[in-house]
Amino acid sequence: MQEVMLIKNGELAMKGLNRSTFEVALVKNLGNALRRVGEFDIRRAQSTIFIQPRSEDIDWDLACERVSKVFGLAAFTRARLCEKDLPTILENTADYLRDALESVTTFKVEAKRADKAFPYQSPEICAKTGEYLLEKFPHLSVDVHNPEFTVMIEIRDFGAYIHAPQSPGAGGMPVGTGGRAAILISGGIDSPVAAWMMAKRGIELTGIHFASPPYTSERAEKKVLSLLGQVAQYAGRMPLFIVPFTHIQEEIGAKCPEDLFTLIMRRFMMRISEKLAHIHRCEALITGESVGQVASQTMTAMACTEAVCEMPIFRPLIGMDKEEIVRISRKIDTFDISIQPYEDCCTVFTPKHPRTHPKREMIEQAEAALDIDALVDEAVAGVRRVMIHP
Ligand code: ATP
Ligand code: MG
Repeated sequence: MQEVMLIKNGELAMKGLNRSTFEVALVKNLGNALRRVGEFDIRRAQSTIFIQPRSEDIDWDLACERVSKVFGLAAFTRARLCEKDLPTILENTADYLRDALESVTTFKVEAKRADKAFPYQSPEICAKTGEYLLEKFPHLSVDVHNPEFTVMIEIRDFGAYIHAPQSPGAGGMPVGTGGRAAILISGGIDSPVAAWMMAKRGIELTGIHFASPPYTSERAEKKVLSLLGQVAQYAGRMPLFIVPFTHIQEEIGAKCPEDLFTLIMRRFMMRISEKLAHIHRCEALITGESVGQVASQTMTAMACTEAVCEMPIFRPLIGMDKEEIVRISRKIDTFDISIQPYEDCCTVFTPKHPRTHPKREMIEQAEAALDIDALVDEAVAGVRRVMIHP
């Protein structure tokens, strides 16, 4: 008799992927997510993943919270594992689900018999369990159409599993099955959400953050670390590259027209990010841009920014309203960190009247005043690497 966790894969999401690749990545990610909760054996069989603790004193609430953030899961539940003999199953059902059964008035039983050697068929298991529970909990009645609670019993190779209905998993694809991309992370609301959305599609993340000390503070950098730490709860641990951006911003400020400042700066971010992405084997860049949100996010402005790099740029928030983005940031617990008031390098040097429909030639002309290659190389050479853990 033991408590375990049962996990159903997000099978519909597996179409484009080999099933075994999907499951191997999922098992590995579950192992990482549970590493600091305790020691577990994780195995897969019959499109279910079984998580069995090696000791009794497991913090199951914490384990469930961790598992609920692993992408690629359709559903999960805690369950009691007991011997496959009917009286034992009945006793364990009443004992394990007592709290739930005492707090409702109607229930039904669903049974699944994967082990065909078990002497009772599913309808018989349901009937016998129903009968037993009605006797044990006289306040209950059976309602097969609209029960307040459903008792689930699964008879499998290793034993009988008794549980309540499953909780929905995080959905998506296991992180690592979709390749690696670099997220340009600021301290704002949008980029952590963009990171989370791409991780949900199975993309492994590398962070890139531009910092401009002393214009931006150490606390602004700490904020980025904690935002990514939050994202890492879903995306797993990831490296973050912190790029020194002060010299570039000062050069642009001194030598280029003020209304083009932001665009020229963003083009530098893209050039440097693409370089870092190549070095660290990322296949794409990710930003938190959304059409029309600020002057540098008009279509023309974005076309102008991405013209300096060849790598694909993914902008998962492109068609979303701020409200929708905020809703996700609250759900993934980045919102409260994002709204802390520390300056980002983008806000330090903002022009009063930024250009919203820049001409490419105009920008290129302005950039001619700068030694672009030297500035990019200097920034790349000064990068600091930090490891972000969930
Ligand atoms: P966010 O809320 O993500 O900061 P934003 O709406 O404030 O976005 P901008 O400041 O124009 O928009 O930035 C657009 C995108 O550029 C960000 O979503 C992020 O991907 C990237 N970015 C901005 N500032 C930085 C930075 N300091 N370091 C790395 N990337 C950045
Ligand atoms: Mg910003």
